[in-house]
Amino acid sequence: MDTYDAVVIGAGVIGASVALELARGGRSVVVVDKGPAVGAGSTSSSVSIIRFSYSTLDSVLTAWEAASMWRDWEGHLGAVDPDGMARFIRTGMCIFNTPDDNTARIRRLWDDVGIGYTIADAAALSDLLPGVDLGAYFPPKRIDDPAFADEAGSELTALVELESGFIDDPKLAACNLAFAARQHGAQFRFNEEVIGIDRAAVNGTDRVCGVSLANGQQILAPVVINVGGPHSSLINELAGVTDGMRIRNRPLRQEVFTVPAPEGLRLQDGVPAVADLDLGQYFRPQPGGTWLVGGTEPQCDQLHWVDDPEHFDAFPTVEQFETSMMRLARRVPQFGVPHRPVGLAALYDVADDWVPIYDKSDLPGYFMACGTSGNQFKNAPIVGQFMRDIIDAEQAGNDHDQQPVLFHGRRTGRSINLAAFSRRRDKAATSGTVMG
Ligand SMILES: Cc1cc2nc3c(=O)[nH]c(=O)nc-3n(C[C@H](O)[C@H](O)[C@H](O)COP(=O)(O)OP(=O)(O)OC[C@H]3O[C@@H](n4cnc5c(N)ncnc54)[C@H](O)[C@@H]3O)c2cc1C
Repeated sequence: MDTYDAVVIGAGVIGASVALELARGGRSVVVVDKGPAVGAGSTSSSVSIIRFSYSTLDSVLTAWEAASMWRDWEGHLGAVDPDGMARFIRTGMCIFNTPDDNTARIRRLWDDVGIGYTIADAAALSDLLPGVDLGAYFPPKRIDDPAFADEAGSELTALVELESGFIDDPKLAACNLAFAARQHGAQFRFNEEVIGIDRAAVNGTDRVCGVSLANGQQILAPVVINVGGPHSSLINELAGVTDGMRIRNRPLRQEVFTVPAPEGLRLQDGVPAVADLDLGQYFRPQPGGTWLVGGTEPQCDQLHWVDDPEHFDAFPTVEQFETSMMRLARRVPQFGVPHRPVGLAALYDVADDWVPIYDKSDLPGYFMACGTSGNQFKNAPIVGQFMRDIIDAEQAGNDHDQQPVLFHGRRTGRSINLAAFSRRRDKAATSGTVMG
């Protein structure tokens, strides 16, 4: 039996970041993944947009702090990965306003944090997005709804912010974190599935003592962190900790398409990422003259919850392809709808309020970084530090449930109250979608 200070379950972008921070702090760490490589889970499907538009102060602060880590990636890692480094590509972000004043709360939070923005009217938007139809069609509709073809009621306005962007290769970013973690001694084991979270009684109280693997081996450790992405709710069930969670998480199937970028609206033309909440989807430019297009869970669209993350259809459906393409064609009349879908289906790990869970559990020594709700790639570098602080506090005898850890943000000098990501929180008031 191998013995470590900590076992991280899952070698995605968040698991690799947790491993880096724990190893940097002097712990012996092993990361166990049932897949074949770092970042091969949902991370590899990520659209990897870096933005700051969330509904709560702690979420905005978290994304804003994490962005400075992406911008100085080598500084954050403390290493240069010889296999290549992921790059942050700044595009800015444009969020279309909807009649329910969806951006009012974001503007208040950005004013508080000091994030700059402008409010663009249709004239300003036509400079930023040449050739785009700036009609307001809200609410989003299904394409078989006759009202889908209605004329626009008015013209769009938008919140425009210039510091957002994306990471050009999400899997490589996870590999970079793993490379840096290895420099501090972390070990990675692949094709090994955790099938049991082991407990032992210490002074009459059960606490975690390691994990059991499908190959019959056991790894001993006083700390186990569940970073299993869309599988994390199953791992929490293995650990027997779900009864102590007021916020739960479960997998949601999502489709993302790659389409040719319309003329004048490519990455090199300076087009921003666009949250088109007026029609119910988002798109961002991609190197190579394409766009990535995904949905924002408008009310008219059915959500596809998945019971077994091991078995879901990883190919896009014709129905979703047509919906997405017709919405895009409505917004960009010059867009030529491709004849066949190019894209993928993958799983979000969605928490009840679409805010992640970065927390301890009712089982001493067992922690979780899950419920990442389709929007936490951007926070991966800082989440490793959140988890390190929570684990340090608990091992020093503080109870994070009673006395929540306050994380010191270097960029802003402000505290992020990690109770905001507690499994025991009241549901946060959010958009209830991937927008957070
Ligand atoms: C289509 C899509 C688009 C997205 N777009 C964005 C975006 O634009 N911006 C943004 O910020 N976020 C985005 N996200 C979210 C972000 O990508 C995820 O939150 C993030 O990648 C999750 O990383 P993770 O390490 O938690 O999980 P994963 O990358 O899924 O890693 C979990 C790992 O755990 C392993 N595992 C599971 N069960 C076990 C077990 N029993 N034993 C051993 N190993 C196990 C899996 O093999 C897997 O490798 C998107 C997600 C998806 C799916």
